[in-house]
Amino acid sequence: MKCNYIGDAWVGSSNASRNLNPSDLNDVVGEYAAADATQAADAISAAYGAFSGWSLSTPQQRFDALDFVGSELLARKAELGDLLAREEGKILPEAIAEVARAGQIFKFFAGEALRIQGERLASVRSGVDVEITREPVGVIAIITPWNFPIAIPAWKIAPALAYGNCVVFKPAEPVPGSAWALAEILSRSGLPAGVFNLVMGRGSEVGQALLNDRRVAAVSFTGSAATGMRVAQACAARMARFQLEMGGKNPLVILDDADLKVAVDIAVQGSFFSTGQRCTASSRIIVTDAIHDRFVKATVTAMARLRVGDARAAGTDIGPVADAGQLEQDLTYIDVAQREGATVAFGGTLLHREAPGLYLQPTLLTNATNAMRSSREEIFGPVASVIRVRDYDQALAVANDTDFGLTAGICTTSLKHAMHFKRNAQAGMVMVNVPTAGVDYHVPFGGRKGSSFGPREQGRHAQEFYTVVKTAYTSA
Ligand code: ADP
Repeated sequence: MKCNYIGDAWVGSSNASRNLNPSDLNDVVGEYAAADATQAADAISAAYGAFSGWSLSTPQQRFDALDFVGSELLARKAELGDLLAREEGKILPEAIAEVARAGQIFKFFAGEALRIQGERLASVRSGVDVEITREPVGVIAIITPWNFPIAIPAWKIAPALAYGNCVVFKPAEPVPGSAWALAEILSRSGLPAGVFNLVMGRGSEVGQALLNDRRVAAVSFTGSAATGMRVAQACAARMARFQLEMGGKNPLVILDDADLKVAVDIAVQGSFFSTGQRCTASSRIIVTDAIHDRFVKATVTAMARLRVGDARAAGTDIGPVADAGQLEQDLTYIDVAQREGATVAFGGTLLHREAPGLYLQPTLLTNATNAMRSSREEIFGPVASVIRVRDYDQALAVANDTDFGLTAGICTTSLKHAMHFKRNAQAGMVMVNVPTAGVDYHVPFGGRKGSSFGPREQGRHAQEFYTVVKTAYTSA
């Protein structure tokens, strides 16, 4: 059994959770100790005790630890990518790329630790200096989802440590393997005991214990909107800082003047790769009249070529759905959409492969409207709806008519429409002729409206959440 990491000790539990391979439910990836609320409290105590020392650590100490982790992730990307693909169902090339991305993120924040800046201004009073500095926040609870089992933990843990905070990390229940592997590397990175802690376990018990503990100064959360609301309420009740990344219902607009091949590639990549299990996935494909039928036909042809199968088999394009509950949700939405009047243009059914896995055919719904539940609520699977519109103006209005606002994409060869869309799409990230999913790691990530709350993640903007500002006045 793989254990939790509390202080500098690996701590077992009488409860173990079994980690299943969604490509083959007979394959048990491993057994992981399920922490309870007491162990969560122990992890917080360890982090709280370590904070006074680590908050004063030198930039070099932080650089060395983060750089060590980044180098090891990059060196072991094939091995850890295989583990990630096995436990989450992401295809091997995507899984290896995700581990490499985690390594790059640690390297980026290693560098940021050396570049923490302040400001010095002349006071409006004579003989006084004013300095503005950034200090660490304290103990940060990091609560992550299953869809990016190593990249999302990396983009929260690395800045938390770079800016001098201590961390209690709670990964999602279905993917303890990648989290444990990352923790094991961190345990050898030279961080003082207690600076980083891992508690695997149920959200309702371990996660909730982190939200309620007064010693946790801040919570960085990525997951569902419903849990995000719980995080917000618990943190607001005790005035803790919080940052939420939640769902998306991302529009991809295809205009008449788009390059058809580019549009189809972008739609298929953004909607169905990673089994559609990305908060940045395209889920509403908004297509203008004159290109609509050609686009649907070409997209269906492209989808028919996608190979759905074991995430680790050579040649697979789309892996399984990550867990049984998610598969049930996908099927329910496909059914609801049809009852609301949408047509299944491709897919919609379970697929059987040699091994018992959670295989769903990528699904394209046509004749959809923006009012349908399937167009308003996040599905989080390989399912996208095509919504037909008259022209650009209607496309933009439909794109913005949503409770979410993470990414918004457009395929067009018109500079005028591209520029207008960039300025007027109500989303945190706008994509012109590139898929709505797939981002860089050195620039801000985050959304608007119901998608996100709090400062942006990633790039140097991450410092907004992971530091507090101090203004100091000095007179000799
Ligand atoms: P998903 O649909 O991606 O599983 P969730 O919001 O259920 O989204 O889960 C995201 C993370 O939030 C997971 O690590 C989960 O264990 C955790 N979580 C779930 N419920 C709670 C809770 N009440 N308090 C804190 N964390 C929770």
